[in-house]
Amino acid sequence: MRRLIPLIFLLFSCGGDIPTSFSSRPHSSSGELFFSAPVSAWLSTDYTVDTEMGGVPILLYHNISRKTGKYSVSPDEFRRHLEMLWQNGFYPVNLSELLGGLGCVPAGKKPVVITFDDARPTQFRYIIRGGSLVIDPLCAVGIMLDFHDRHPDFPARGVFFIPLDGTPFGQQKYIKRKITELSRLGFEIGNHTADHPNLRTVPEGKLGHEFGKVASFFERVLGFEARCFSGVAYPYGILPSVSVDSVRYRGRLYNISYAVGVNPVLCPSPKSREFSGSVMNLPRFEGTTRTIECLIRKNGIYISRGGRS
Ligand SMILES: [Zn+2]
Repeated sequence: MRRLIPLIFLLFSCGGDIPTSFSSRPHSSSGELFFSAPVSAWLSTDYTVDTEMGGVPILLYHNISRKTGKYSVSPDEFRRHLEMLWQNGFYPVNLSELLGGLGCVPAGKKPVVITFDDARPTQFRYIIRGGSLVIDPLCAVGIMLDFHDRHPDFPARGVFFIPLDGTPFGQQKYIKRKITELSRLGFEIGNHTADHPNLRTVPEGKLGHEFGKVASFFERVLGFEARCFSGVAYPYGILPSVSVDSVRYRGRLYNISYAVGVNPVLCPSPKSREFSGSVMNLPRFEGTTRTIECLIRKNGIYISRGGRS
């Protein structure tokens, strides 16, 4: 893991709107690597106005768990994050809605994207209650659905980036049911590669396997073409050494329509000129109480004028 760090510094040093210092911390179990910039650094990356040219926060979560640890937030804390966002006029959207221009966001609301990596069991778990199979109210999906029930003006939206290096969301016998149910509920599914490698070290000829195998898996599970699963989250936030917008896997061509990385800045507005240059490396940062408090104080966040302009 240590050898990855210089690569990331190089990647981040190439951008324009980049904080100047990072601390890096390896993830305790799966080896996810993230960055925590000083709050002052990314607070200083303001867009200048609060309009539809403002930036959009994309939050990243891993574990929703009472077990403490890096990249874990407790169910209570996650619920509090939703509460803070709701109270301050944020409005969850999926990444397809961001790419589509955010016409779904009501006037005066600020879009926020909530993403989850690694398909951890604490993100989506079924439990038996009263003899029936139900969604665990303490997992991420359960908390978001319950919050939406209590606050109908705060949609249950989120994007789950799924790798195939383990059992997606844990419970083997419910994989198909979970992926189908996520789609049915309006959540989005994304591709987190087959083996969760550092893509910088993957030869170009193997990228088809990393991206295509997951798309093919989604097709098999859901029974239709995977064109809506063309969003990618780079493991560890590290880009491949060559830019990739399509891959071939077992004779099929799979297009990649967007990709998310890790970078503690706001995503440019989809109505800005900068957006198209960001689509294959959309910035995300961890959802923590601290980052959400900063968002609440931050100027320059996208505010919808309403309508479908
Ligand atoms: Zn990951």
